[in-house]
Amino acid sequence: MIYKVIQKARGGQPLNKAEVLSLLNAKEGEEAEALYSAAREIRKERYGNKIFPYGFVYFSTWCRNNCNFCYYRRDNDIDRYRKDRSEIIDIATKLCESGVVLLDLTMGEDATYHREDFRAVFDMIKEIKQITGLPLMISPGVVSNDTIDKFAELGVEWYALYQETHNRELFSRLRIHQDYDERMNAKLYAKSKGMLIEEGIMTGIGETLSDIADSMLFMNKLGAKQLRVMSFVPQKGIPMEHLGTPERSLEYKVIAILRLMNPEALIPASLDVDGIKGLKSRLDAGANVITSIIPPMSGLAGVAQNCMDIDDGHRTVEGVSVILKEMGLVPGTLAEYREVIGK
Ligand code: SF4
Repeated sequence: MIYKVIQKARGGQPLNKAEVLSLLNAKEGEEAEALYSAAREIRKERYGNKIFPYGFVYFSTWCRNNCNFCYYRRDNDIDRYRKDRSEIIDIATKLCESGVVLLDLTMGEDATYHREDFRAVFDMIKEIKQITGLPLMISPGVVSNDTIDKFAELGVEWYALYQETHNRELFSRLRIHQDYDERMNAKLYAKSKGMLIEEGIMTGIGETLSDIADSMLFMNKLGAKQLRVMSFVPQKGIPMEHLGTPERSLEYKVIAILRLMNPEALIPASLDVDGIKGLKSRLDAGANVITSIIPPMSGLAGVAQNCMDIDDGHRTVEGVSVILKEMGLVPGTLAEYREVIGK
């Protein structure tokens, strides 16, 4: 069945749940390879050999929420930081000079901004836009419609907000005391205001393959330009610390199926799960964006892997370019990226 389903997707026909499940169940070896190979072909047809590198600026690790899977959850007793304006501008400038095509400005739901106001963030956005001229993605958690209006008005291209699962019951166990619809509606509102949106899921958080298939069918209809999957990585001090990390083949299959179902989508290979050593497999599965590029010695953290490969310079455009070259791929330019996002 799997080869027929791949053919169907290659022909541009929508897949049903049984077909998505058959791809998720692809056996390692020949079947999984056929899936990855089809995903690479589709990427090549649409994007040639271009892969887009994104800079990651996690500017505040404070958070008022208590997500069970997250190292930065409120109750985790860890060192935290909130970068000031000049540090953030400096980091953004360095990332721009290094060749990234987008800056992802991320924070936990830091009460300093969420309970008071976002003026400092708005000012920072204006300045970063002026200095770097790069497209921006803002990942601030759930914010009010007024705040989204302001982001849109400032010309912020992207709003990223991952549901992690589209199973509401599982969501309520993971994102404690958070509202599923409020989260979903925030990204839909951003989209209605002309912003591009990114949606994402996580594997290994208690979901079933049926949940993943539901998510992929949902994401296919959502109209998100960027679609992401990441494997859960257990971290010290969180309630899910003792849960294992899932087999990576599941993440690779999800990347490939997302590509088959959404040929035009931007699909990340995140450095934040397995660092540089995990990059090739994710690109082999059909990803066309590299996320979580972080300048070394900047004092910035990742999310799932807060320090892996950062200070030794592997999470840089230079670092990933070595792998790209080995694979016959090249970093896409800013002009090419702007053409893709239409902004
Ligand atoms: S996932 Fe985001 S909202 Fe949840 S605890 Fe972590 S930083 Fe906060």
